[in-house]
Amino acid sequence: MRIAIYGKGGIGKSTITANLAAALAERGKRVLQIGCDPKHDSTRLLLSGKKTMTALDYLRNVAPGVQRLSDVLHTGYKGVVCAEAGGPEPGVGCAGRGILSAFALFDRLGLKTEEFDVILYDVLGDVVCGGFAVPLRKGFADIVYIVTSEEFMSLYAANNILRGVQNFDDSLCKIAGLILNSRGETEDKKKVHRFSEAVRLPVKYTISRSALFSKAEELNKTVVEAFPKSSETKLFHTMARGFLKDKRLFPAAPLEDETLERIVLKGERDADKPDADKKVKDNISEIESAEEEKTGALSALDQKNGSTPSIFFSKSMLCREPLHGCAFTGAICTTTQISGSITVAHAPPSCSHIACQTIMAGGLRALYQKNLAIFEQLSPSLLSSDMNEETVIYGGIDGLVEKLRQAVAAGPEAVFLLTACPAGIIGEDTESAIRIVRAGHPEIPIISVTADGNIRGDYMQGVLNACMEGAGALIDPCCRPEDNSVNIIAEKNIANNAETNFALISNLLNELGISVNCRFVRRTSIEALRNFLKGRLNLPAFNDYFSRMLINFLKERFHISFAQNSFPVGFYESERWLNEIADFFGKEAEAERVIAFFRKKYREMVKPFKKALNGKRIMIITYIHDIDWILETAFDLGMEIAKVCILNYSQDNLFATRYPERFEAETDYPPWKRDEDLRRLKPDLLLCNYIPGDLPPALHADTIPLCPDTGFYGGLAFARRWAFLLKAPVIEGWKYESEKLA
Ligand code: SF4
Repeated sequence: MRIAIYGKGGIGKSTITANLAAALAERGKRVLQIGCDPKHDSTRLLLSGKKTMTALDYLRNVAPGVQRLSDVLHTGYKGVVCAEAGGPEPGVGCAGRGILSAFALFDRLGLKTEEFDVILYDVLGDVVCGGFAVPLRKGFADIVYIVTSEEFMSLYAANNILRGVQNFDDSLCKIAGLILNSRGETEDKKKVHRFSEAVRLPVKYTISRSALFSKAEELNKTVVEAFPKSSETKLFHTMARGFLKDKRLFPAAPLEDETLERIVLKGERDADKPDADKKVKDNISEIESAEEEKTGALSALDQKNGSTPSIFFSKSMLCREPLHGCAFTGAICTTTQISGSITVAHAPPSCSHIACQTIMAGGLRALYQKNLAIFEQLSPSLLSSDMNEETVIYGGIDGLVEKLRQAVAAGPEAVFLLTACPAGIIGEDTESAIRIVRAGHPEIPIISVTADGNIRGDYMQGVLNACMEGAGALIDPCCRPEDNSVNIIAEKNIANNAETNFALISNLLNELGISVNCRFVRRTSIEALRNFLKGRLNLPAFNDYFSRMLINFLKERFHISFAQNSFPVGFYESERWLNEIADFFGKEAEAERVIAFFRKKYREMVKPFKKALNGKRIMIITYIHDIDWILETAFDLGMEIAKVCILNYSQDNLFATRYPERFEAETDYPPWKRDEDLRRLKPDLLLCNYIPGDLPPALHADTIPLCPDTGFYGGLAFARRWAFLLKAPVIEGWKYESEKLA
């Protein structure tokens, strides 16, 4: 049972929620209470007054690798498990966004909500922005109680909360009723009853003003704990019983502001002006139909809970490594590779434009440099909802629905819906847009990829999310593997050499009589994705953190086999890779023939490079840890490795080499040691990920490619650059000139 208790700030909802949690726990229920109010004191009375670190503070202060769920969950009175989402100081930041991030943290750390009988969310209801609707929107809570007092502003907030619920989905019955936390005997309770009548919600419980609440608070306890025999405690036990038993839920039927004032302040009854509140009446459901709809709502939630889980990869508040692009761009560069689909970006035009330019730049480079027309990249199938200031303030679901309708009207086999930063910041309810459009076109899958731009993570995070959501929605689990068929996994979409590498790999496979079933996900189609499981073996293009995440996901979800080795670079890796595939498919003789052919050619090709590079010394500083192909090439050419310096900038701390005894290596390399090492070791060539601008003069340097050329000659392709570089003068003539001038 997942209950959200909303109410205006200061109305007493935290005290009520904590007392209710205590009463439920005394009745033997396993209770989780999550405070969703930036002032983060919802669970204080359950924890004997102890203030705990909020989820958001934890996110800011603890590195992702060492975060644990137990640090943000605290056990209080009678075993009630307590958590505080937290939020920014008043007047700064965005509390709604904070709630979204806190829930994402709970999710990522593996909070198992099914282990609790009752989950109570204590939610601030003054500001009903996208973030504060999270407990409802993300399917965390399915029952809402609203706490109010007799004051107009409190009823005004209650009405706003109803609006928020209605905006979330006006077809669902979610509201259980009102809880009147009375300010005292002198207050006009009739106001609340008139409001309750007008919005067709029962006042479920009335809590009278009592000095016991402040006395218990002084003891840092709930009334239930401090005064177990009091009538107040009895009431909370009655409420606990009612919460557990009462299954009646009602739709949200908020009032127009003018009607609210008329009914609450002026004391007019709703029935006095029958036409004025037609909207309210249209929304009234009988209890029976409410029950029916609730069943529908729950099954929708169950479906949501079964969707593809998100995997942490690149981003958190503490991950300050350079982010390469944003998740939105990564996701777009992936989904636009799938012919037969249309991608709808819920994004400002600028984000869509930049993403489109990134895709097309790759297409144009392939066209002009390699004479290769990649239509998916030259003319991406992309629509943008063009969010603007207005949609960021008021929400852009209407515009999004229009774009989705435009997309499905074109008759694609699938539509991908991607979100940029602004949609993520305001917690846009894209699922509701999908529901609306899907109702008219149930035959076209609309696949939601919550990319959320930079909030979600970097470029590769977006690629990962798009791959996982696409796989979950499209891959047909009934397909059976076919003979001599492989899938290619995790190619890099905007790499310059992605197509030439693929051509080389498929040529090698062809030599063994093996064909490619699906490229996951590059230049593919909806049909190929559906038939993904026809591939008998899956070949990863890279062995990096991203690829391993994707492989783990596919293994767990579809129980498929993967080759151990990724796309090979250089002779030795190519030989090993070919042998592994040949072993799997029983093609040893074919592989032997191919390898013998390349061995002969490789030996011939090495000779001129060896002449130019023999005896030269290389120093390597890198955060890419898969560098054996460079070392092997250098050794083949008679070069010496002066030192390998490993920077640990990412989760990918897996440096391992087959040649540990042949060079000096330092892991966790501090960048400040570079100049000292260069002076000491005097290499001829420095290889690094980016050539820094402050290198000492008289040193040649080259960039280690992120996506090297694959195949038997891949290492030699890199060595060709070294040979050219080392032929050039160490200091160019113009530099001497400028020195003379100085
Ligand atoms: S980081 Fe955000 S604002 Fe920038 S391009 Fe990506 S989605 Fe747009």
